[in-house]
Amino acid sequence: MRYYTIDYKGTAHVAASKDGKRAYILRAFRTMNVLLLKDHDGSIPGLSEAVDLEDENVRILSPIPHPRQDVVCLGINYADHATEAKSFDSEAFSKERPEPIFFSKRVSYSQGTDDIIPLHEDICDSLDYEAELGVVIGRDAFKVKAEDALDHIFGYTIINDVSARNLQTRHKQWYFGKSLDGFTPMGPCIVSKDEFDGIPHLDIKTYVNGELRQSSNTANLITGIPEIIETLSAGMTLAAGTVIATGTPSGVGMGMDPPCFLKDKDEVVCEIEGIGRLVNTVRAGATVPV
Ligand code: MG
Repeated sequence: MRYYTIDYKGTAHVAASKDGKRAYILRAFRTMNVLLLKDHDGSIPGLSEAVDLEDENVRILSPIPHPRQDVVCLGINYADHATEAKSFDSEAFSKERPEPIFFSKRVSYSQGTDDIIPLHEDICDSLDYEAELGVVIGRDAFKVKAEDALDHIFGYTIINDVSARNLQTRHKQWYFGKSLDGFTPMGPCIVSKDEFDGIPHLDIKTYVNGELRQSSNTANLITGIPEIIETLSAGMTLAAGTVIATGTPSGVGMGMDPPCFLKDKDEVVCEIEGIGRLVNTVRAGATVPV
């Protein structure tokens, strides 16, 4: 099942779709967070209203416009990205990474596909993209072993972990440079785990203005999804609704020679096999709702 948050005739609704074309409004769930707290089983009530996702009255929002907590992020979780990050700034991205690096990303409002990414040109001179597989938790996880981790996953989405590299390096810590308003586009939907065979190995790609920049597969994660859940839940409850951004492969703008950052009007497409495409355009002088 593919779960969407849609704006339909001016009101936000949670909707479920088998084919990504026709979606059924799930009126029992006011928001996606409510649905995640119930760990929805995929059933669609018989009288649910159906809408065409391409209808002019429908706008696809982020599946979770207001995450309940900060997004949990993995840093340097693909080996090839570790190499390019170090070449950009050897102090901020040191080479020895024996254990997973966790940080968090504040998101007051996550925008969806076809929304803008603000350039924040007054404080950011190095806006960058990071396509990531997002894991959405559907059942509270505490002291969960890797082999049981799948029981706690609701599904998967696409996240662009937008980053201000100058702020990331200036402040010696990633929180601020990753947390500006509009830095967490997500979508277009959450695909439930039953659509995949076990922990999925999915092609992940980014295009900027049509040019392929990132291309890898989530099989290349250094710390895999079950190990991420085991490590974190050993000491902190991953509550239903938690979103985990699992890290990005090589090919980000800071890794290019010379570095090539996003600018006004650039189109960024993050694509993950079996989930879809998250399309956003950079806009100077723009803000997003919070
Ligand atoms: Mg990232």
